[in-house]
Amino acid sequence: MNSQDIEALVRPNIRALCPYSTARDEYQGSLGIFLDANESPYPTGWNRYPDPRQKALKAKLAAIKGVPAESIFLGNGSDEAIDLMFRIFCAPGVDNAVAIDPSYGMYNVAADINDIEMRRVPLGPDFALPAKELLAAADAHTKLLFLCSPNNPSGNAFPAAELEALIRQFPGIVVLDEAYADFSAQGSLRGRLAEFPNLVIFQTLSKAYGLAGLRLGMAFASPYIIALMSMVKYPYNINQSTQELVSAALDKSVDGQVAEIVAQRRRIAATLPAFGFVRRVYPSDANFLLVQVDDADALYAHLIADGIIVRNRNRVRGCAGCLRITIGLKSENDKLLESLQAYEKGDIHR
Ligand code: PMP
Repeated sequence: MNSQDIEALVRPNIRALCPYSTARDEYQGSLGIFLDANESPYPTGWNRYPDPRQKALKAKLAAIKGVPAESIFLGNGSDEAIDLMFRIFCAPGVDNAVAIDPSYGMYNVAADINDIEMRRVPLGPDFALPAKELLAAADAHTKLLFLCSPNNPSGNAFPAAELEALIRQFPGIVVLDEAYADFSAQGSLRGRLAEFPNLVIFQTLSKAYGLAGLRLGMAFASPYIIALMSMVKYPYNINQSTQELVSAALDKSVDGQVAEIVAQRRRIAATLPAFGFVRRVYPSDANFLLVQVDDADALYAHLIADGIIVRNRNRVRGCAGCLRITIGLKSENDKLLESLQAYEKGDIHR
C-alpha cells in the first residue's frame, strides 16, 4: 500500500479539515506575559493550558520507545485512539470495520457509537489468527482491521510472521493493539513502522507501566496518520498533571516489575492444572491468565465471597467456562491459590 492508497482511505471531510488552532499553537515560546488564551493570571499551579502537542513528553517517549516523535500520538487512554480511528477513516452508516472475536470490547462499542458496522471474525482453534477469514470479511467499504496481540481475553500473542503477512495483504488500515506487549517475549512491531504504511500500533501506560489512573495511551504510525489524529483530537486532550506525572514516572524502569509479573504468571499457570476443577489454562503472553473451569459462575461467586475479584468471561464467544485472572502481587496470588484450595476441598461459599 502506498501513501496515495492511505490517503484514499481517509474520510473526505477529514482530508479537507481545517483544524482548530490554539493560542499555544500560534505562539510557542514559554517566556513572556501571556494575555492570549483568556486564562486566569492567578497562579493555582494549573491556571495555564497544557501543551496541546505534548512536546516534552513525546520527546521522552520517543527516546524510550525508539520511535520518532512525529510517529507518536498521545491520547486519553487507548480508548481515545480507538475512537479516533473510526472518526478519521469511517463514514457513519457507510463504511465498515473488521475485528477478531473475542477481543477487547471497546472496538465494538466505539464502532456502535460511530454507527459503523463491525464484522467480527471468530478466532480459530486455540485462539489462532483467522487470517484468511479476516481478509474475506473485507469489501470496498472496509476501512479498518482491529487486531490485538497479545489478545485480551485469550492472552496469546499471534506469530509475528502471520501478523506481518496479514498487514501486507489487508486493503485498509490495520490497528494492532499491543497493550500487553511488554509481558510478551515476542515484543513489538513498532520498530518496523516504515515497512507498513497502513499499520497503527496502540500501546498504553495502563498495564506494564502501572499508570492506569493517569490515562495515557500511545499510537505509533506514519507521520501522515499521526498528523490526522492530532488534527482530529480535542486540542488539550492530555491534561497538565498527566503530562508532568507521566514524564516523572518514566524516569524509573518497570523492567523488574514486569519480570516479576511474568514469573508469577508462570507460577500460577504451572499450579492451576493440579486443581480438579480446572479444565484448561490457556498459554498467556500477557499479565493475565484465561482459565477454563468446570463451573465458572460458581467459582466466580466463591472468589467474590473471599474478596477476590476476577473477570467472568463465561458468556464471551469462545470463552465458555472461562475466568480471566489478572496476575497480582505474590501475596495476592497466594491468597488466590488458597481460596482455590478451599473451593477444591468443598469448603465453598454459596
Ligand atoms: N487495549 C486492550 C487490549 C485492553 O485490554 C485495554 C484495557 N483493558 C485497553 C486497551 C485500555 O487501555 P487504556 O487504559 O490505555 O485506555
